[in-house]
Amino acid sequence: GFNCGIVGLPNVGKSTLFNALTETQAAEAANYPFCTIEPNIGRVSVPDPRLDELAKLAKSAKTIHTQLEFVDIAGLVAGASKGEGLGNQFLANIREVDAIVQVLRCFGGETTHVAGSVDPIRDAETVETELLLADLESCERQRDAAVKRARGGDKEAKDRLAVLEPTIAALSEGAPARRVSVPPELKSVFQQLQLLTAKPLLYVANVEEEAAAAGNAEAERVRERAAAEGAGFVIVSAAIEAEVAGLSDAEEKQEFLESLGLETTGLARVIRAGFALLDLITFFTVGPKEARAWTVPRGASAPEAAGAIHTDFQRGFIRAETIAYTDFLALGGEAAAKDAGKMRAEGKDYVVQDGDVFHFRFNV
Ligand code: GDP
Repeated sequence: GFNCGIVGLPNVGKSTLFNALTETQAAEAANYPFCTIEPNIGRVSVPDPRLDELAKLAKSAKTIHTQLEFVDIAGLVAGASKGEGLGNQFLANIREVDAIVQVLRCFGGETTHVAGSVDPIRDAETVETELLLADLESCERQRDAAVKRARGGDKEAKDRLAVLEPTIAALSEGAPARRVSVPPELKSVFQQLQLLTAKPLLYVANVEEEAAAAGNAEAERVRERAAAEGAGFVIVSAAIEAEVAGLSDAEEKQEFLESLGLETTGLARVIRAGFALLDLITFFTVGPKEARAWTVPRGASAPEAAGAIHTDFQRGFIRAETIAYTDFLALGGEAAAKDAGKMRAEGKDYVVQDGDVFHFRFNV
């Protein structure tokens, strides 16, 4: 599975948001249980209206959404990269996630702020500085090792140096590693460095209840920073999300949201944005028993998609039969799409397209 780590300074609303995420899931996931693997890990289903359409057309008994994991990573304080607070554990936890969701406090009010005042840009910089310093230290350590081995003619070490040098230069100037341009042939070497500031980033501007729909001046500053950095951006009010999560009646929920000028919950937007951040695509398997959404990285091949379902499907892959979602929908189902010649047989080199409805043929 894929996961997003929720980070931020103390008292910005991380746990409020995380608890709302997990509560909503517990209430809504009728088809399959929400699971809290550990107290700070929650799995949520990714809303996708296409899956509901497919299930309707195929009269599937069950609908199974694709899932995304959220990890509540507490313990960040200034000085984490030097081991302050829960520094080392905190950084190790971030290293393991695929993307970072940074909650920024944009609400005023009584709650004490660790730095004494509300300033989301200052907070974003504090967090980024810790991640930058940790990356710089890690890169310098790796460079020392690579220099020795490269002298001995080690090709791998030379490649590593070729990505480490520009990365160290960027980090030293205060730029995150995701800004370093890496030639395609060195992309995998770069990924192996496992840098914190190379991970995709989503800013969640946590505003007061009254600003949930329109946002506020602080959130605007975050929006600008996100745009400049190529990061994702979502406005939520964690307090509202907590309230909505407590409502079990769907209609009541919708009315409450509308009274606040909101179309969907902030959580749904956070989940969608987290999913987009990971550059994942969705394919479907549809039948009378179940309609199900699956996730693969963009660019995955048909056998890799088969492998997301079961490793045996990948090992024994023969071909994939696919109908594009738009054809499936326009023609009103699998049989009609097939009659219209819209079912294609694709081989092992086929690159999966978002919305493919698949049947896999394989040897056992
Ligand atoms: P964490 O330390 O980042 O996990 O922060 P918490 O989720 O514990 O929230 C810290 C405090 O801020 C709590 O008292 C929350 O009730 C309050 N808080 C969180 N989100 C909001 C919000 O959207 N609006 C308001 N007014 N208060 C909030």
